[in-house]
This record gives sequence, C-alpha cells and structure tokens, in this order.
Amino acid sequence: MTEPHTPDGPAASTSPGPMAGVLADMPEVWRRLLVEHVPDRLGRCTACRNVSGSGVRWPCTLQQIASQARVLHETRGDG
Ligand SMILES: [Zn+2]
Repeated sequence: MTEPHTPDGPAASTSPGPMAGVLADMPEVWRRLLVEHVPDRLGRCTACRNVSGSGVRWPCTLQQIASQARVLHETRGDG
C-alpha cells in the first residue's frame, strides 16, 4: 500500500468496473445518469451538488460509471 491516504470503507474506491457491469444491463438507469450528471459552466456536476455549495468536479464517479456502462452495453451489441 503506497497511497498516503487510505480511508477505510468501500466508498473510497472509485473503480467503476463492477458497478458499470451491473448498470450495463439497466440502460434506462445509466441513460438517466448521463442526462443528469452533466458539467455546469464551472465544470462541476449539476447533479452532485452538496449542501456546502462546493460542487463535485465533473466527471463525477456516477458519470464515469454510467459512461462505462454505456460502453459495455454497446460492446455487447444487444438491442
Ligand atoms: Zn454527478
């Protein structure tokens, strides 16, 4: 382990792999995510704003997962 910051918890990992694989079978879900999670003029996700007002920098984790899910879905070629 060479990372200086290793917070515990599954949310610490930003690897979209497994999650994207699941979402690939749910096109209505990742399509909506791709529509909602878009950057505003400041390059922050419009769907991931938090109460402090400091938005999440886009692409956010959800956008990345949805994007990978779309690639997986199109790679499979069904539909
Ligand atoms: Zn987002």
